[in-house]
Amino acid sequence: MSQIINHSFDAIPQSYLFSEVARRVAAFRAAHPERQLIPMGIGDVTRPLCRPVIEALKKAAEEQTRAESFHGYGPEQGYDFLRRAVQAHYAVFGVQLDAGDIFISDGAKSDLGNLPDLFSQDCRVLLPDPVYPVYRDSNLMAGRKVEYLAATRENGFAPLPGEDLRADLVYLCSPANPTGAAYTKEQLAVWVDWALANDAVILYDAAYECFIREELPHSIYQVKGAERCAIEVCSLSKTAGFTGMRCGYTVVPQALVREGKSLRQMWLRRQCTKMNGVAYPVQRAAEAVFTPAGMAACKEDIDAYLKAASVVAGALEELGVWYCGGKNSPYIWMECPGRQDSWRFFDALLENAGIIGTPGSGFGENGKGYFRLSAFSGEENARAAMERLRAWLQS
Ligand code: PLP
Repeated sequence: MSQIINHSFDAIPQSYLFSEVARRVAAFRAAHPERQLIPMGIGDVTRPLCRPVIEALKKAAEEQTRAESFHGYGPEQGYDFLRRAVQAHYAVFGVQLDAGDIFISDGAKSDLGNLPDLFSQDCRVLLPDPVYPVYRDSNLMAGRKVEYLAATRENGFAPLPGEDLRADLVYLCSPANPTGAAYTKEQLAVWVDWALANDAVILYDAAYECFIREELPHSIYQVKGAERCAIEVCSLSKTAGFTGMRCGYTVVPQALVREGKSLRQMWLRRQCTKMNGVAYPVQRAAEAVFTPAGMAACKEDIDAYLKAASVVAGALEELGVWYCGGKNSPYIWMECPGRQDSWRFFDALLENAGIIGTPGSGFGENGKGYFRLSAFSGEENARAAMERLRAWLQS
């Protein structure tokens, strides 16, 4: 009998990691309605949109009320004004992009989930482990097999390719979710050299580049030759609090050619068929992010999240708990005390300290025994959570 549904879905975990976290938290709340819980789990932002963004949004919404300034379907790759603003943003890192290689999106998740459309069914996909689950699940849903490269404490959760590594499509995320680890320029150059030597393509997720405060690359295109082997995906979700607005950008350089085909042309063809752009007011609001006033306001918000992350890091240090991240990232990746099982620690932390975190095992085999805390709930929550953690662990 012929099958009518995509049975590749059988290969993905039954529930998305954060849905399982939400389910357990809901059950705990129902059983303990009096308990005040501190959310240190999910990666959503909490600080509101900045004034320049709101003013641009209001102005664009007003334009939509008049026939002479109304905007319907927009240009396929996004409005020129926004692509030029993104181009200028890259120039700050010393990267000269062609505006024609920039595609405006409704966020990084959609593009990360859709970019595998460009690759063959039997292409060899390599993911770091632990990994942002979207890379894994979108390839498994498409019926592809995936392989993993271990990100461990020994390699600083920033694995590099060995001589004998073979893959066609590699996902890299820096600074990484969930570990907060970030690649240096020299390390990224090792990946670029490997990809060029192996005709591989790197899918580089720069969603957290705005958290970088040390001398580290914000874009893979800061490495020479990357325009011939890498696609970069970025988002305003964390840069400017756009998780509810939905806007990002993907760079597919004209120089990226495999088997005689321009991946930029293919991506354009794919997007023209399956996507109809991002709302005009949202693109105007995104443009405002890249103005000096917008950038200054966003930096203030990111500094505040980083301050919260430093509170968590300081407390873990004091408690003698191993961790990484939190410096160029909103995420702190800690070892579960006693290397206990991640979900067991999740339940114990909820029960004993009323803190919601994310079990490391949900991000892959190498996440077992680890736990992710997020700084997005702000400094006050971070301080309160660390007080409770101290009281619990020292009791
Ligand atoms: N990439 C990583 C590594 C993320 O952690 C997230 C969101 O948490 C995304 C992409 C998705 O971002 P967006 O809101 O732009 O879809």
